Amino acid sequence: MNKKMRVGILGATGTVGQRFIQLLEDHPQFEVTALAASDRSQGKPYHAACAWRLPGEMPESVRSLPVNAPQPPLDCELVFSSLPSGVAREAEEAFARAGYAVISNSSAFRMDEDVPLLIPEVNHEHLALLETQRKTRNFDGGFIVTNPNCSTVMLAMALAPIHARFGVEQVIATTMQALSGAGYPGVASLDIADNVVPFIESEEEKMEAETLKILGRMSDSRVEGAGMQVSAQCHRVNVTDGHMAAVRVKLSRPAQVEDLSDALSSWRSLPQELRLHSAPSQPIIVRQEKDRPQPRLDRDAGRGMSVTVGRIRPDSVMDFRFVALSHNTIRGAAGAAVLNAELLIAKNIHAKTSAK
Ligand code: NAP
Repeated sequence: MNKKMRVGILGATGTVGQRFIQLLEDHPQFEVTALAASDRSQGKPYHAACAWRLPGEMPESVRSLPVNAPQPPLDCELVFSSLPSGVAREAEEAFARAGYAVISNSSAFRMDEDVPLLIPEVNHEHLALLETQRKTRNFDGGFIVTNPNCSTVMLAMALAPIHARFGVEQVIATTMQALSGAGYPGVASLDIADNVVPFIESEEEKMEAETLKILGRMSDSRVEGAGMQVSAQCHRVNVTDGHMAAVRVKLSRPAQVEDLSDALSSWRSLPQELRLHSAPSQPIIVRQEKDRPQPRLDRDAGRGMSVTVGRIRPDSVMDFRFVALSHNTIRGAAGAAVLNAELLIAKNIHAKTSAK
């Protein structure tokens, strides 16, 4: 059996960090060997630093691992980062500069021109940016790959097969986002009980900008953003996990509801061909029931890695409308990053630390 790659988790005690630990337990390619978090947690064993909030017990293998500062060196070859964006930039760059592969959830580098904003099903060819990144940043064997914001990922995935077949000109997306998207403890209970909050800091801007980068094409070693207009409005709702978006699209070529449904449900891509461990067999599941998708019923589809789309109908202002839903801490965060790392291994893209 091949030796597992040793990985570290930055922000290991948080909402996304705990998901990483859960998803990496018994992973066939990765073994968690290092953890890092804030100075509140540093120096403690993981079980003492982390209030475990996922169902089931904290995996035995990480209980006694010490929590370190998020700075190199750490005993690993690759770091998954779920640090707050304010600290991510310095920490992630330091790891990449020290020769580590950095697979980040945070927004710090997502929109940098030389950093892939990767969804393996959608834009695996954007990994070509790593060559530019190595040159422009003078990285000696390390690199940074990011995954999108938790709402962007489901929008970009739902748009990708529609854009490929019919061309998307305009998009209007209205989100209803789960509480776990705000980390722990997140939104105060008295602010969200019996309520909807129509503001999530920088979320609308992220959805609009990231979608264009993800759906853009490689041209002369850079990503040329997709030529569509995207408008997003984001809301926090009283749901624990699972972000939903009501989406309207204007297309460049004529289509029927059945055509959209077929484009979405038949869509397969490189992760499915390569049978990557975290890749769902069906990246987009189309539900025909009139009242689906729903967060409680659909967020765990494809072990949390499938996007569920329903209510595809003609729209009297744009061409079509539909509702998309995905698990925000799995496909929207930790699962997305793990899938990115699996793709890098499959493509034989390794950091310098792997050679040690
Ligand atoms: P969270 O629950 O608040 O966890 C934050 C983590 O970062 C904890 O491990 C915390 O450690 C650590 N941390 C905080 N301040 C730090 C500092 N100054 N230095 C080092 N470590 C520090 O947040 P989260 O929801 O997991 O989000 C983490 C990142 O992922 C953010 O960038 C967020 O935007 C992104 N993200 C989140 C989601 C989601 O659905 N939640 C989805 C996509 C992306 P301590 O426990 O020691 O304080």
